[in-house]
Amino acid sequence: MPSYDFRCDDCGEEFTVFVAISKKDEVQCADCGGDEVRQLVTTFYHSGSSSGESGASCTRSTCGSCTTCRTPG
Ligand SMILES: [Zn+2]
Repeated sequence: MPSYDFRCDDCGEEFTVFVAISKKDEVQCADCGGDEVRQLVTTFYHSGSSSGESGASCTRSTCGSCTTCRTPG
């Protein structure tokens, strides 16, 4: 089963799901459960500022997936 990357419009969460292509419209946010999610373009390389890093260069809420953005408050 293929995997797809999505980003939630509600909370900014980025997540990967394994889902049949016919079920992509049913994907919900892995974090808040919202259904306002967008499929991200799958990339097979890193440009150097990919999500999931420690957030050293991230201003809060820009990426929604790094440690800085995930920390409440
Ligand atoms: Zn969400």
